[in-house]
Amino acid sequence: MLDVCLLGTGGMMPLPHRWLTALYTRYNGSNLLIDCGEGTQIAMREAGLSPRHIDVICFTHFHGDHIAGLPGLLLSMGNADRTEPLLLIGPRGLEKVVNSLRVIAPELPFELQFQEIQENEEVFEINGYTITAFKVNHNVICYGYTIDIKRAGKFDAEAAKEKNIPLRAWSLLQKGNTVDMDGVIYTPDMVMGPERKGIKVTYTTDTRPTTSIVAHAKASDLFICEGMYGEKEKQQNALKNKHMTFYEAAELAKEAEVKEMWLTHFSPSLVNGRQYMKEVRSIFPNAHLGKDGKMVEIDFIEE
Ligand SMILES: [Zn+2]
Ligand SMILES: [Zn+2]
Repeated sequence: MLDVCLLGTGGMMPLPHRWLTALYTRYNGSNLLIDCGEGTQIAMREAGLSPRHIDVICFTHFHGDHIAGLPGLLLSMGNADRTEPLLLIGPRGLEKVVNSLRVIAPELPFELQFQEIQENEEVFEINGYTITAFKVNHNVICYGYTIDIKRAGKFDAEAAKEKNIPLRAWSLLQKGNTVDMDGVIYTPDMVMGPERKGIKVTYTTDTRPTTSIVAHAKASDLFICEGMYGEKEKQQNALKNKHMTFYEAAELAKEAEVKEMWLTHFSPSLVNGRQYMKEVRSIFPNAHLGKDGKMVEIDFIEE
């Protein structure tokens, strides 16, 4: 099961009742955060989440509304006596940007580790998460992220018995290990069925629509996408500022055949997003306005 919480839904600046866009997920005890604008740690507290146990923070890009909250968050983690290392993933230059911000948070009781994304697309395997970063199209280098929770096939006990595989090898094979027992080699494919459907969440913000988004969001259980503007007449602003309208986001959701879409990263001038949703849903029916603290538990589907 993957827990997902959209911590905020704002773009550019935090507002009363609208924190900046950031995503928090929890899987198998490991906590991941994507983006950390001003106030993200408060949004976490409001959602009942503690910053202390974050294992990984991914950054889409280095605009203030996505990273300016980091020094305060690090200080809070330090004050909570965290000692485990923290992994940061982001575009090239990440270490330099973070070290500049750390002038105001120089002493931390834990180590920071950095993974800078070099290619248009990169995959990170961490704590059961498969995190794929893919380049999008903003006015600075920016990445979207897909989180995949893969699920191995079912263990076939009948096959194991038929093949006379010793009982003590079963659980090792189940965990994906190749086993050498009494001079005989046993491999997982002898007893494991085909990989089952996992869980997939895609998060992308601060971008024009791109083919990379459609390709990576394909068949996601949840697609969280920026929708800076609901007003049709703001299409020109979307083009100029390299953002999207609600309708462009809905077209992406439709093309990528996702199960559900949440809109986020609203312009500070957007007051009542609801009035645009009828038209958004005429493009992609399972579209929803993001809400600060909106949570969902996504379960594996039994086939
Ligand atoms: Zn932004
Ligand atoms: Zn931006």
